[in-house]
Amino acid sequence: MGKKAEEDIRKNADGYYRQLMKQCKVHLEEQDKTLPPARTDFQETLREGGVTRRSFLKWTGAMTAALMLPPMFKPLVAQAAEQFSRIPVVWLHLAECTGCSEAFLRTSYPNVDDILLDTISLEYHETLMAAAGYQAEACLEKALKDFSGKFVCVVEGAIPMGLDGRYLTLGPKGKTGLEVAKEVTSKAAMTLCIGSCSSFGNVQAAKPNPTDAKGVGDALGISTVNIAGCPPSPQNFVGTVLHYILFGALPALDGHGRPVWAYGKRIHDYCERRPHYDAGEYVEEWGDEGAKKGWCLYKKGCKGPYTYSNCAKVRFNDGMSWPIMGGHGCMGCTEPAFWDTMAPLEEPIDEKPIGGYSANARADMLGMALTGAAVVGVAAHAAITAGINHGQPRKKDDNEPHEGHE
Ligand code: SF4
Repeated sequence: MGKKAEEDIRKNADGYYRQLMKQCKVHLEEQDKTLPPARTDFQETLREGGVTRRSFLKWTGAMTAALMLPPMFKPLVAQAAEQFSRIPVVWLHLAECTGCSEAFLRTSYPNVDDILLDTISLEYHETLMAAAGYQAEACLEKALKDFSGKFVCVVEGAIPMGLDGRYLTLGPKGKTGLEVAKEVTSKAAMTLCIGSCSSFGNVQAAKPNPTDAKGVGDALGISTVNIAGCPPSPQNFVGTVLHYILFGALPALDGHGRPVWAYGKRIHDYCERRPHYDAGEYVEEWGDEGAKKGWCLYKKGCKGPYTYSNCAKVRFNDGMSWPIMGGHGCMGCTEPAFWDTMAPLEEPIDEKPIGGYSANARADMLGMALTGAAVVGVAAHAAITAGINHGQPRKKDDNEPHEGHE
């Protein structure tokens, strides 16, 4: 490519982002007028949590880059973070272990993501709210009335469909999870599935699936944003909500409803053990020399080549570690039906060569193909082509990859 062509592309991109920034500023100002007031002072909360101005600016830069936005957006990301605690959230717990909430809450040294989650305006969250029974149900009814069409519905857990949903009943009126989810999601501005249970059904939906459990999108026939993982990283949740606050629209999603900025690449693409994979250096047995030297875990069943997620970058437990760093292979928990398709978890999927290609070669080819199929959209694209369909009946061709909103 010639210098002139490069210069033209740079200028076009610059113009695009400047226009996007203008739209974003207008949107944030308008939103500021309509959102309920903050219950706490955000800057004060950061100070109390031990987050310095410097750390906040560092976080802003990292989050801007993670959302695939250029550095000029940093002040706007900071502004969006200030509005984070003002977005009303109704958090449903369906068939699940509460592990996602646990993962989000347990932190010894809170960072900005943790503090944002702490300050979130939770109108209803069965695990955290003080209210119980009829009182809790009244809180939910009030939230649905006060914030109809404006709140974010976060769902943790799959929906059992068997026996008309009666495998899961909730609250003093004995409503089924299916009924509650239908009612709440139909009034939400968007439905965000947190974890692989609400996204795809997860272990509840694994064969033989006696309760006919399903992910929320499949169970209700609606479009959802799926923050997959068992559990997912808090940063992927925070970043997606921030994008929504910034642009009033969702980021580009892949064919499974996962935000491309967080799930656009394979575990295998970012993995620190990848040079060993490329060099053919594998752990053959647990505790062998390869294991001690941190070699590739493919032969011990690592499903990183088939799994899309940014775990290697964002990690867990305050960014301290992640499963492969800890010495165990990826089990593919961000992929639909991974219990059925990736098991046994400590064995490679298929060692037999097919079509002249080894399992390793096929893993790489599969990854390349899926990377090509995933939407390589700029996250902000959604802002220019906004128009929300989430929480609304799904269109027939919604299984196709789509960029944010059409
Ligand atoms: Fe990392 Fe697993 Fe890929 Fe090996 S197979 S490089 S351990 S993701």
